[in-house]
Amino acid sequence: MEASYAKLVERLGEVQDIASSAGVLAWDQRTKMPVAGAAARADQLSTLTRLAFERFTADEIGSLLEEFRPYEDSLDRDSLEASLIRVTRRDYEKAVRVPLELRGEMARAGALAEPVWREARKTSSFELFLPYLEEAIELKKRYIECFQPVDEPYDALLDDYEPGMKTAEVRAVFAELRDGLVPLVAAIAERTDAVDDSALTGDFPLERQEEVEAAILHAFGFADEEWRVDETAHPFASKGGPRDVRLTTHHQANNLTSLFACMHEFGHGLYEYQVDRDLYRTPLGRGASLGVHESQSRMWENMIGRSLPFWERFFPTVRDAFPGRLGGLDAEGFYRAVNRVQPSLIRIHADEVTYNLHIILRFELEQALVDGSLAPADAREAWDAKIEEYLGIDVPDVADGVLQDMHWSGGAIGYFPTYALGNVISGQLWERIRRELPDLDERTRAGELGDLREWLRENVHRHGRKYMPAELLERTVGGGLDPQPLLAYLRAKFGQIYELPA
Ligand code: ZN
Repeated sequence: MEASYAKLVERLGEVQDIASSAGVLAWDQRTKMPVAGAAARADQLSTLTRLAFERFTADEIGSLLEEFRPYEDSLDRDSLEASLIRVTRRDYEKAVRVPLELRGEMARAGALAEPVWREARKTSSFELFLPYLEEAIELKKRYIECFQPVDEPYDALLDDYEPGMKTAEVRAVFAELRDGLVPLVAAIAERTDAVDDSALTGDFPLERQEEVEAAILHAFGFADEEWRVDETAHPFASKGGPRDVRLTTHHQANNLTSLFACMHEFGHGLYEYQVDRDLYRTPLGRGASLGVHESQSRMWENMIGRSLPFWERFFPTVRDAFPGRLGGLDAEGFYRAVNRVQPSLIRIHADEVTYNLHIILRFELEQALVDGSLAPADAREAWDAKIEEYLGIDVPDVADGVLQDMHWSGGAIGYFPTYALGNVISGQLWERIRRELPDLDERTRAGELGDLREWLRENVHRHGRKYMPAELLERTVGGGLDPQPLLAYLRAKFGQIYELPA
């Protein structure tokens, strides 16, 4: 058993090395590579992805996992060994269910659809993208077939991003969230003039932005010898190794969105950075799921980065960098400005309150597309109707409607819910953190965030993928998914900002 376990660890380490190398190449592609390198890079990435997949699904891994079966019950469930075998078996059994041919078709369809989606968005032509959307849905239906029996088809898609999560549970959580958010959005709309964010648009020189971001990221916990930040089109975070965390951002000279993107990506980076080092080179060595990951980025971006205590400490830094734009504000005025709520068409620009409604509508449409109750040809009308219903606005241009996100072009269906699940989980964690760190506001006001980082390391980060998201949540907050803490946080914060009746 010991020799076999060592062999498994060695094999999995090689797979992880290949995957990490692909990750660094992908990071390079999106930050440094000359555009003309794209074709060669596509070959390199597809070779590495195939090698990692072949090695992971090799018969040898399957027989090693079989060898451990009789011993598993005698292992401590929380031990590295038991966790590694359990998670590897789950990944392996999922991976071998999907024929290589279907995987190839899905990868090809995604690669072909992406440039068409870009063109369709640029020319506002839903008709141009429609055949590719139809193809993506058909492929997903074949993919779902590989996982039968499932309670409902969408479960098979969701599981790739949020392991173990069931559609029925997400539906119930989102319904409760939607019923809480719609009246809050309506109440804020009555008082829309209460917050002025006009100071946030104008001239914000890029070098000054970078200085402010560096000051804030260092206060968050960024260390120069282990972290870096680079420019990209659509910000993301990645990890080259346990002490090699790479954030990206996208600067614009007329606003401060990059500052909040940096905070968001820091949350992702910190999660990866604080995974226990002995999980490195194993399938356990990263975040538990996309939803749990997003709970971390949203916490640093919103619960810290858009909080009054934080700006009481850092407003002078940002004001002194941009005296022409922000000289007339105080910390509270800036705090109010960065929290303005405004129903809008574009998800990635949405505020903390309306954001989840953008996700809920995508979740509802995706289920209907997958179960066949909505034809892809009708997706545009269905989208526009839901935007009207949830946010009270018209969609004048399909580029700002159903064509705005790239996810469906790449076949990433089942991914969207993880954004709002992240917000829900961040609300639950935040409620617990506020109870266990009662002086967090004072600490934040002093620019000291070490206690928060340590709480997150101890309770969430260090476990990596050892526990399924539901189990991690149970261990951390003592219960399942619950949107009420997030709703209570939003009602308190925005009730105060907009002076809403209690
Ligand atoms: Zn994120």
